[in-house]
Order: sequence, then C-alpha cells, then structure tokens
Amino acid sequence: MKSHTRVVVIGGGIAGCSTLYHLTQEGWSDVVLLERNELTSGTTWHSAAQVTNFGMNQTMVGLKTHSINLYKELRDDADYPVSYNHGDGGIRLANTQAQMDGYRHFASMARGMGVEFEVIDAEECARRHPLISTDNLLGGLWDGNDGDIDPASLCQALARRARTAGAEVYRNTPVTGLTQHKDDSWTVHTDQGDITCEIVVNACGYRVNEVGAMMGVHHPVVSMEHQYFVTEDIPAIVDAGHRMPLLRCPISDYYCRQEKNGLLVGFYEQDCKTWGMDGIDPHFVNALCPDDLDRITDVLEGAFERMPALAEVGIKTIVNGPITYTIDGAPLVGPIPGKRNAFCIIGLRAGLGEGGGHGWMLAQQIVHGEACYDSWCIDPRRFTGHTNVELTALKAIEDYQNEFRFHFPNEHRPAGRMAKTTALTPVLAAEGAEFAVVNGWERAEFFKPTAQFEVTHGFHFDESFPLVAQEVAAVQNAVGLCEVNGFNRFEITGTDARPFLDRMFCGRVTARAGRVGLGYLLNHHGMLKGEATVANIPASDRGPDRIWYGSAAASEFHDMDWLQRHIGADEDVQITSLTNDQTILVLAGPKARAVMQAVSRADWTATGFPWLSVRECFIGFAPATVMSVSFSGELAYEIHVPNASLYAAYLALRDAGQAHGLRLFGAHAVESMRLEKGYLHWKADILTEFDPFETGLSRFVDMAKPDFVGKAALEQRVVDGPSKRLVTLHLSDDGAPAHGGASLMRDGAVVGTVTSGGFGHRVQKNLAYAFVDADLAQVGAAFDIDHLGQMVPAVIVDPAQYDPQMAHVRG
Ligand SMILES: Cc1cc2nc3c(=O)[nH]c(=O)nc-3n(C[C@H](O)[C@H](O)[C@H](O)COP(=O)(O)OP(=O)(O)OC[C@H]3O[C@@H](n4cnc5c(N)ncnc54)[C@H](O)[C@@H]3O)c2cc1C
Repeated sequence: MKSHTRVVVIGGGIAGCSTLYHLTQEGWSDVVLLERNELTSGTTWHSAAQVTNFGMNQTMVGLKTHSINLYKELRDDADYPVSYNHGDGGIRLANTQAQMDGYRHFASMARGMGVEFEVIDAEECARRHPLISTDNLLGGLWDGNDGDIDPASLCQALARRARTAGAEVYRNTPVTGLTQHKDDSWTVHTDQGDITCEIVVNACGYRVNEVGAMMGVHHPVVSMEHQYFVTEDIPAIVDAGHRMPLLRCPISDYYCRQEKNGLLVGFYEQDCKTWGMDGIDPHFVNALCPDDLDRITDVLEGAFERMPALAEVGIKTIVNGPITYTIDGAPLVGPIPGKRNAFCIIGLRAGLGEGGGHGWMLAQQIVHGEACYDSWCIDPRRFTGHTNVELTALKAIEDYQNEFRFHFPNEHRPAGRMAKTTALTPVLAAEGAEFAVVNGWERAEFFKPTAQFEVTHGFHFDESFPLVAQEVAAVQNAVGLCEVNGFNRFEITGTDARPFLDRMFCGRVTARAGRVGLGYLLNHHGMLKGEATVANIPASDRGPDRIWYGSAAASEFHDMDWLQRHIGADEDVQITSLTNDQTILVLAGPKARAVMQAVSRADWTATGFPWLSVRECFIGFAPATVMSVSFSGELAYEIHVPNASLYAAYLALRDAGQAHGLRLFGAHAVESMRLEKGYLHWKADILTEFDPFETGLSRFVDMAKPDFVGKAALEQRVVDGPSKRLVTLHLSDDGAPAHGGASLMRDGAVVGTVTSGGFGHRVQKNLAYAFVDADLAQVGAAFDIDHLGQMVPAVIVDPAQYDPQMAHVRG
C-alpha cells in the first residue's frame, strides 16, 4: 500500500467508487480508495438499482442526468460493458389533483435542465404498463429515461476506469482510525498500515458513524430496513413483447420494475424499522436482515390491486437490507461541518440512481471548491446542531413512510417538531400561529382565526391567502410584530476584524460605529456565496466594539466554515456564534416608531435613529440591540433580544402596540412584502451558479477595492459578460404562485427559471423572480411561465414594485 496520497476515499460502494472515478476525471490521479471487505459489500450489492431522472429540484435532476449519461457510456464500453436497462420508462402514479399539479410542476422544472417528463392520464398509464388497473388512478408522470443497472458491474467499471487513470483501490483494508495533524492533513490508520493524505472522504454507507466517530463527529444519518421481493416469471410480461416500465406508487407506497421475466417489487411499509441504531455487527458483510413480509401486508394489498397479475405468481427471492436516511431525505455530499479537509458522501437512499451524479458533485467540490450546480440541497452544513440520532430517526421513519409522497409547498410534517423553540413558541401558538420548520426552528407562517382552521396543501394559493392579506394590510397601515427565530448571528471581534471582513465582502460595507450595512460574499469563481448584514455596535457596558454579522437561519455552519477558512494565520479575528442566544422581534409599519417611543427611552425620531442604524437599549426592561432595517419595505425595527428576556420584550411591545392597532404577522406576509420590494432570499435567489451582476446586486460590488475574495474571477466574468439576469415578473394569472424551478418559455424554448414566487398584496400582483437569458432581460419583455401545465403569460417589471423611492422605510 502507498504511504502517502492526496485523497483517501473510505468505502467501496457506489458512493466511494463514483467519487474516486470523478476525482480522476477532474484531474487528480494520486487518489486511493480503501474498502474494508470487497467492493459493493455494504448496501450496494443488493440494491434494486433503479435509475430515474426524477428529482425535486434542478440540482437533483442535473446530477441524475449525469448518472444516466455516465451509465450509458459505461454500458457502451466494449472492454467492460455494464448491464444497464436504460429507457424502460417509468411512471409515478397519482390519484389526486394536487399530486398531478406537482408532477406538472416537476415536468416544468426538469424541462429547464433539458429533461422531458410527460404528465399522462390513467388510460395512458395503463396503455404503457399493461399490467396495471386504472382503479383509483388519475394519471402519472412519465420518465422516459427510467431504468435499472447492475450495481456490482457499475462499481467495478468505475473502479477500473479510476485505476486506469492512476487511482489505487485497496480491498480488505478496514480503516481503524483517523488522526488529523496541525496542518489539517490526515493519517488514515488501517489493518494494513498507515497512509497519510491531504483529504479524507467518508463514503461508508450504513457504517458512516463508525468512521465519523474516528474523527469525532456524528452524522445525522440513520438506517432503515427496506425490503423487496422478486417474483417468478409472469406470463403477461412474456406476452407483452417489451420490457415493463417502472412504477412508483405514492398511493400504496411501493415500486416495481421488471427483473428477468418477473417483477421486483419494493415496499415502504408504515410499520417500518430502524436498523443498527445501537451498533452494527462487524461481521455484517454482504449480509441481509431477516425477511419480514408480515410487516408489509398493508402496502402489498395496494400493489396486488394495482397489478392483479402479481397475486398469481410465486415469490422467488426476498431481500431485506439497510438503507440510509438523513433528516430531510436528501444525502449529505460535501464538506463535513467543523472539520477541515474532510468530506462525506453519505445518507444515500437512492445511491445507484444518484451515485454517479453525487460523486461528480463531490469531486468538483474537492478539486475546484464548488460544483457546477448550487449544491446547498445536499450540503452537509445545511443542518445546524440539532440533528442528533434521536431526531434523525424520527424524521427517517416519517420520510420512509412517505417515500413517494413529495412535500407540497408549505407542508411541514409532524415528526420531530419543536426541535428548536423560544419562550414565544407556546405564546404564538395560543395566538393561532401556524408554524413552519426552518432549520429545526418553529416559525409562525400566519395566524389562524380559529383553532379548527386548516389549509389544504397544494400548488395553488390556499385558504391562508386572505389572512396573509390582512396581516400585510396591518403592517402597511398600522404596525405588525413578527418573531424571527434562529436568524444566524456571529459576533466578530479582534484588531483585524475590519480588514478581514473587507476582504470577505465584494463591496464596501460600512465600518461606521452605530451603522448597519449589507454585504455579499463571493467564492473563488466570483459567484455568490453568501449574504450578510453587518452591524457595528459601539463599546458599552455590554461589551467592547463589536461587529454583528447576521445571515440566514440555516447558514450558521456554512458561513462559519467559509469565514474561518479565510482567517490568516497571523490575523487577530475571533468569531463567536450567538445564533441560539438571541431572537429577533420585527416591529414594522408606519406606527412602529410610536410603539418604540412608548417602550424605550431612546430618541427614535428619523434624525435621532435614521434608517440603517444600530443601538443598544431596553425594550421595557429587556435588554435589546435594535437595528433600523426593513425586509418588508415599511418603517421597521429589528429588535434582537437575549432569549432570557424575549418574553418580557414581547409583552412590552404587545402592550404598547395595542393603542396603535398592532397585529402579529408571520413569514408568509414577510414573503409577500419582500417580493414587492425586490429583496432576495439566500439559496432561493442567491445561488453559487450566478455572480452578483447577474443577480442584480451590482450596487453591492466595488471593483475598485484593491482585493476581495473572488475578485480576479469576477473581473474575468465582467469581460465575458452575463449569461443570465435575475428579473421580477408579473404573472397574468392569480390562481397559483409561481414555484421555484418552473421554466420560462419564449417561442417554445426554455429561456429562464423561476427562483421565487408569491402574491404581492400591497401591489395586488402575482409576482415571481426568475433568471432569464441576459439578452431578454428588459422591463416589458414578455414570456410564458410553464405553470402547472398551463402557459401563463408574464412580463418583466421593475424589481421594486412597492415604494421604489424608499419613503416608507425611511419613515
Ligand atoms: C433493498 C434496497 C433497495 C434499494 N433500491 C434502490 C434503487 O432501486 N435505486 C437506488 O438508487 N438505490 C436503491 N437503494 C439504495 C442504494 O442501494 C444505496 O443508496 C447505495 O447502495 C448506498 O451506497 P454507498 O456506497 O453509500 O454505501 P455502501 O454500499 O454500504 O458502501 C459503503 C462501503 O463502505 C465500506 N466501509 C464501511 N466502513 C469501512 C471502513 N471502516 N473502512 C473501509 N471501508 C468501510 C463498506 O464495506 C461498504 O462497502 C436500495 C437499498 C436497499 C437496501
């Protein structure tokens, strides 16, 4: 075995083999894979190995397309052909209009990635799949690229190609320990000796946490037992004369594909079971869990009803194996939070279909620092701290039970709720709050008029629409109060804090004491990495001169990692997270100043505390740090309160607000108002796929600054010119919001993609943001949005639809 290499990939399933191969493709050939047994002896060997193009967002569709193209190439390799049934086609069934709407949206979204899905009715489903009945069926989504692959030959082919490119694979070499050195390099200890390297990759499937423990981390990944069986030959399949398409059924929770002349049917039973929670037998290799068909009788019945021929044949083989789940169902592919030079590709529950793409995305991140698609949806840093094994197990069970039932917009499922709360959570619940989950935090979406009030989840505007309109009206005409918990907040101190931040932001962010500014961070490719508010808090009896860095609720680990990585060895900069210590109360509306004057002894006049100011004060007797910033477009105060004083501050504000018609408002009202102002959301509208000029943020870039992270690359991008631009659109139809990912069409071609959408209640317009081809991005330009199966006309309008002069904000 080599004694040194650049990257050690631990684990030889599809995740490890794909990563190794793609590292060589990205130009790194001095790389090694260590496998404790034989390749594919974890989960991969017994996978049903379906390979679909279907994904919940464009990144997932894009990486699955990569898998499919790669697998086709491997199939066609005359030297080592992989067995791949590509193009059998597959149908996702539906028996509700809301599911059909979802499929129409996913088809629109995939079109933007060059993938064509078809939404078909029940008769067409039965025509394409002669074994199914149309009972209780509305239709389905057809994926013409669907198929299945032989997992063992796929992994061998990837390893073979990687070896040819210079990589080495050591089988029967269990990793037994990991030591990280001061320079962030690693020694990987194995049964066969040690190997030093720059970077380690955990690709250990259901043993992820054994290797995680070796580096002192716990990954939010849990295994579930998962079963399928393979039937004897079915005469109708032989008679059909063509291969059967795949089926995935959210009505009865099973999937089905052809295996020889029979069917392979896999089940997601309600009575499901976690596996290996208390440790895994070291001899569980190439192994299965005991069969337990009794557990699946509930879903089996649904499969029999849909495919009566299934009930007529015997079962040949049963497979029950561990499959990994994360807390939100998507895998963890990227940097390991809190670690340097450590990556993971874990929590894959559809690793054969996705593995080609995930390995590609990870190799790009390792070699180039960023992948070609924004990888936030699979970024291991998207959960921050609350994702312990108990919570992950609850969400894994829920996810397993709902495998093919996608989340509707604004649907937040019941398992593992109340993971992160404040003293106000029960108070707001008593006021009628309907909560959403934001990175574990319970955040009020809107306030219900009665305890019985319910919304019907779907893709159209729902019953909360008039309530949100009322909340917006209260903010516009009087004053509203909104809790924003979990907002990320770092305190940055040290003598080099200013020059450090100046280097991190692409613009000039104010350094004046008592002032607040907004800044953007770029990666080394000149693309948008982050967005943060900087507040310069003067020294007081609460502390020395400090900078507060505020960013989105889920960005804590991501931003901390990015900032820490850039602190020079000789720089005096300290970053402390206050994210879980403080909560924001937003007071917004024309009467907000009057309320502030009633609760706090400071000068709150427009001259005494102008827009973009920060000061420490008391709200009643609750200590607070107040910033005059606004995401609603009304006069507003962001009141940051230590959690111990939150309820006291809330009571003071509610009390004083009574005289001014104060009303509680939630995140849906905020969403409506920010869309009318042209304000952006990180990871909805601010993506690593676009630079700040394309995203309409040129006023936050200062190319005259001597240097900032990403400047050289951005200079080149300026020379090359923009490919897309972010615009605001006004839709001609008010029935449903535009959903992120929907395609924008011109003359039958896709020319853009929606990032956000919603109704602007103050301007009475259905608005959307979209990235469109740069040469088409002029106000007045008209398009069609491929919107839930309809072509809805939309026209580009000015980004600030409400109060473009900012008169309200300045008060
Ligand atoms: C019944 C069933 C059906 C499935 N059907 C499908 C499907 O139709 N389509 C699909 O896409 N996915 C499917 N999956 C999921 C898919 O099989 C997995 O997502 C995939 O195989 C996971 O691959 P992996 O490489 O992450 O993990 P694994 O295959 O488990 O590989 C991890 C490897 O790491 C090695 N390892 C562990 N610890 C160490 C160590 N200390 N040192 C060195 N090596 C170590 C292990 O020996 C193992 O070889 C199915 C899963 C199951 C259980």
